[in-house]
Amino acid sequence: MTATILDGKALSQEIQSEIAQQVADFVVQTDIKPCLAAVLVGDNAASQVYVRNKQKGCERVGMASQLHTPSADISTDELLAIIVQLNSDPTVHGILVQLPLPKGLDETRVLHAVNALKDVDAFHPENVGRIVQGRPRFLPCTPAGIQQLLIRRQIRIAGAHVVVLGRSDIVGKPMAVMLMQRGGGGDATVTVCHSRTRDLPAVTRQADILIVAIGQAKFVTADMVKAGAVVIDVGINRTEEGLVGDVDFAAVREVAGQITPVPGGVGPLTITMLLQNTLTAARLQAKVTPT
Ligand code: NAP
Repeated sequence: MTATILDGKALSQEIQSEIAQQVADFVVQTDIKPCLAAVLVGDNAASQVYVRNKQKGCERVGMASQLHTPSADISTDELLAIIVQLNSDPTVHGILVQLPLPKGLDETRVLHAVNALKDVDAFHPENVGRIVQGRPRFLPCTPAGIQQLLIRRQIRIAGAHVVVLGRSDIVGKPMAVMLMQRGGGGDATVTVCHSRTRDLPAVTRQADILIVAIGQAKFVTADMVKAGAVVIDVGINRTEEGLVGDVDFAAVREVAGQITPVPGGVGPLTITMLLQNTLTAARLQAKVTPT
């Protein structure tokens, strides 16, 4: 069997055109242009590319964006002052602090300083708590993109055994929580694996849907995947052969039923969900409910 490709880029275009329409309606209704402020500390080349793509995304859907680029030697207090200023700026609706921050900066303090209503990455403990309780304000962008991909490509989540490989606060943990919630887009039976999991292939082989976010190039091999499974590859690894995922794509596609490519899978959907969250933030601040 050769797996069907789950094209995240094409789906992103589809969702972004919906968001563009919603943004246009919101602007007519409120005369407010949603605005995402990105804070990029230092000169990490990969982060620069990510932030540029997020800004281009804003432009595509008719939203404004700001870029703040303090140098890597900024102190935590100075960075907090930038966040405080953005928190109180009524023209800024979403705040994105691009990670990783340079060594020496207190990431937790910085992320917790972001106003929970402008927290479009959903890192603030208040927003994380709301997700766990099943009443989210914002959904974290990468898991939200994956959930949309599953829903919109009619992949049955309810009752499925989902195995999430990786337990990061950004991807693995919220992904597991979202898919185990009651109701639409949830109701899965979820297993979370990590570096201490015993006999990992035996667990991953049970997955109807396998979601991999570990940051190890081509780690998931064909023998770790059940025939016909849906495989979602979150990994982005820069190698000598270019950008590759956490899944050995060529081998696993011969076993899986459906699979996301890298690039062109989860990545574009992550940016799209960030745009969705920025619109949600603007609506929340303007106290407007979606039409
Ligand atoms: P992370 O913080 O790098 O954590 C890695 C997770 O994988 C940890 O839970 C770790 O287990 C687990 N792990 C590492 N090696 C393992 C192994 N050999 N066997 C089993 N588990 C292992 O994770 P992340 O931030 O979610 O990033 C993961 C990957 O996704 C990276 O390549 C990142 O670039 C990519 N990413 C992509 C997007 C996108 O939009 N496409 C977004 C975010 C991240 P322990 O907890 O036990 O250490």
